[in-house]
Amino acid sequence: MKKKQKIDLLERTLVLIKPDGVERRLVGEIISRFERAGLRIVGLGIVKPTKELIDRHYPKNRAWIENLGYNTIKTAEEAKLKIDLQKDYGVKNVYELGLKVRQWLIDFMSSGPVVKIALEGPMAVSVVRKLVGKTTPYLAEPGTIRGDYSIDSPLLANLEKRPIKNLIHASGNLKEAKYELKLWFKKSELL
Ligand code: ATP
Ligand code: MG
Repeated sequence: MKKKQKIDLLERTLVLIKPDGVERRLVGEIISRFERAGLRIVGLGIVKPTKELIDRHYPKNRAWIENLGYNTIKTAEEAKLKIDLQKDYGVKNVYELGLKVRQWLIDFMSSGPVVKIALEGPMAVSVVRKLVGKTTPYLAEPGTIRGDYSIDSPLLANLEKRPIKNLIHASGNLKEAKYELKLWFKKSELL
């Protein structure tokens, strides 16, 4: 196989250690998990993001936003809690509820320092998602970063009108990774 083809097999992905991870002094521990798995750091920095940057970071498409809203409704239903969209959240439908959750995310992610890490390796996007674990801390398996270090409940988060604290963001797929790496790093900041 030619060298060029070998390089094409490597993926790059973005990890953000969210303000809760930085506050809890878990930066070193989290980075070492990725290094231990064999991923290579090709970009690294600490920033206090603006609301504008976070707004550009999270998707704006209807399906993604509605999914955030559905998550909140599902969480309440599972806990047998009745929610009144208008009274409890001041919204009319699931899309508007998703927009609310998205706004909580923007406020939280811009509330403190965030560590940005660009990682490279074969199948890096899936490998990183696997190491990070499921979105909801109590469903994340032991051995994953979220499973080992986070304990937040979606119900509590929604009652407190804030996002689930799960320490990390990791790009969901290769397309997201390409977009996010460009958003968070200048070309000259990446190896
Ligand atoms: P991330 O994009 O942060 O890596 P993810 O891809 O596992 O996480 P997404 O569906 O993209 O999950 O949601 C983005 C983030 O929004 C989650 O990590 C979580 O912090 C928060 N979140 C998602 N749904 C809700 C909800 N219904 N209520 C509160 N917070 C939520
Ligand atoms: Mg995501």
